[in-house]
Amino acid sequence: MTTARCCESPALSWLAKLAARGVPHGHAGHDVVHDYTVLSRCGACGGGVVEHHSHDCWDPGDHSSWSMYWWWRVDPADMDAVLELAAACPAPSDPECDCRLHRGLGAETPPRAAPSRETPYERAPVPSAKVRVGTDGLPRWA
Ligand SMILES: [Zn+2]
Ligand SMILES: [Zn+2]
Repeated sequence: MTTARCCESPALSWLAKLAARGVPHGHAGHDVVHDYTVLSRCGACGGGVVEHHSHDCWDPGDHSSWSMYWWWRVDPADMDAVLELAAACPAPSDPECDCRLHRGLGAETPPRAAPSRETPYERAPVPSAKVRVGTDGLPRWA
């Protein structure tokens, strides 16, 4: 279950796995860190959602610090460029893909704001991420 939402009744469909690092906890080869970033589009509002999961079990005594989760809403206006880039991507599920979508938006996560203290959390303002395409043709989070 995630709390990710872009509008009142999101209809999210998976667009791309933008980035990944490490293997999941409990799997062979897991070495402390497992991060990944996923991009979805919303059929209801035309916006999008970016989710970043970060796992780090460096401190075995503090399980609560192992898994962190951030997410952002992307405005419908910014999704036009994103969808265009996603349509041109030959391998949406491959974080190592060399297309402009992956090289640009997979390079880093959107800027992180402090977690909201609003209660219930679901009512809190949704952090949003903007997309700007640079002169080099690569999209960047803003
Ligand atoms: Zn929506
Ligand atoms: Zn790609």
